[in-house]
Amino acid sequence: MSSAQIRFFTCFLADWIQICPILDEVFRATFTSLPCPESYVSLISRESESALEGGVLAEVLEPGVFKGVATTTINKLIKAGFTTVESIAVTPPRELADVAGMGADTALKVCRLARLQVDPGFIPALEVLEMRRSMIKCKTGSKELDRILGGGIETGAITELIGEYGSGKTQICFTLSVTAQLPVEEGGFGSNVCAIDTEGTFMPERVMQIAEERGLDPTKILEGILVARAYNSEHQQILIGSLAELVEKSNVKLVIVDSMIGHFRGEYIGRGTLSERQQKLGSCLSHLLRVAEAFNVAVVITNQVMSTPDVVYGDPNKPTGGHVMAHACTHRVYLRKGKQNTRLARVIDSPSLPEERIRFAITAAGVEDSEE
Ligand code: ATP
Ligand code: MG
Repeated sequence: MSSAQIRFFTCFLADWIQICPILDEVFRATFTSLPCPESYVSLISRESESALEGGVLAEVLEPGVFKGVATTTINKLIKAGFTTVESIAVTPPRELADVAGMGADTALKVCRLARLQVDPGFIPALEVLEMRRSMIKCKTGSKELDRILGGGIETGAITELIGEYGSGKTQICFTLSVTAQLPVEEGGFGSNVCAIDTEGTFMPERVMQIAEERGLDPTKILEGILVARAYNSEHQQILIGSLAELVEKSNVKLVIVDSMIGHFRGEYIGRGTLSERQQKLGSCLSHLLRVAEAFNVAVVITNQVMSTPDVVYGDPNKPTGGHVMAHACTHRVYLRKGKQNTRLARVIDSPSLPEERIRFAITAAGVEDSEE
């Protein structure tokens, strides 16, 4: 078990138990009324034969894995789709009880046992360093952008792309969906990609164009991207909640959420709803971070900007999502429109990268270095 997984499981349940009773009710009500095709739900749990590369292999759930838990209970869990100890450790007991059809006490016990198996407590910092060595970086398409990102988008972290409309957030995501599928030696992750599309802006045609321009097979590239359309913030939360299982099963090394904030901004209007919005947003973000760390996955999210009219000098736009967003994201990159097809990118907050600004271009091939 890697030390990243340890951190993931240690703090996961506390958050989710807090939020889940509320979410559970909301999700059930929402899902029954959603115009959501079944395919989106099944797509998110699509399995792949490929083994995890450079990731963490999960412990298979089988009778005898938990001392004192009956085989019938284990079989119920397996039947309900909980095939690994990890998938149980990251599921709130209430949900486990509902989905697998077991008593609340049994669900709590199973959850505790699962957590104990994956949580060895404190670990030496040297192990943390070792874990950082397993981190890989994926190139964005622009060498300059890669440079200010310390080599590209890294696994085990959340990279946030912030910018106004047309600043290139989605284009970077599209390009990454292609480059991430390249072998590690060629600057990719050699993996599949998972994209949560909250705004209906995922355009397969554009991804195909980027792949073609880069001399890759567009059909194969599309096959390697698992897309789920999130229809509202609760749906987005469900999809994010299912990532732990998905990335593990489907050899996913890049998770994209475009945009992270859109539904939250649209649904929670007015000051009175702000704290609830921030709590839910924070919960989603901490789940994403744990998935990133536990499974050595790169998470890329996009964020919008809001105008602050009181700013007299400089850029009046600032990232939305407040402190919750700012604290949760590992690296924050601010994008601005430049001349013609160029865009400016600046790392504005990172624990390891200096603040630097570069120019890149959006072309038929997606994101590239600017000729200027
Ligand atoms: P929003 O907040 O509205 O989602 P965004 O930052 O995601 O905005 P993008 O979709 O990344 O915006 O960028 C849109 C820009 O990308 C367009 O304005 C256009 O300049 C450029 N673009 C889109 N498709 C192509 C293409 N096929 N070839 C070249 N440039 C393109
Ligand atoms: Mg966009």
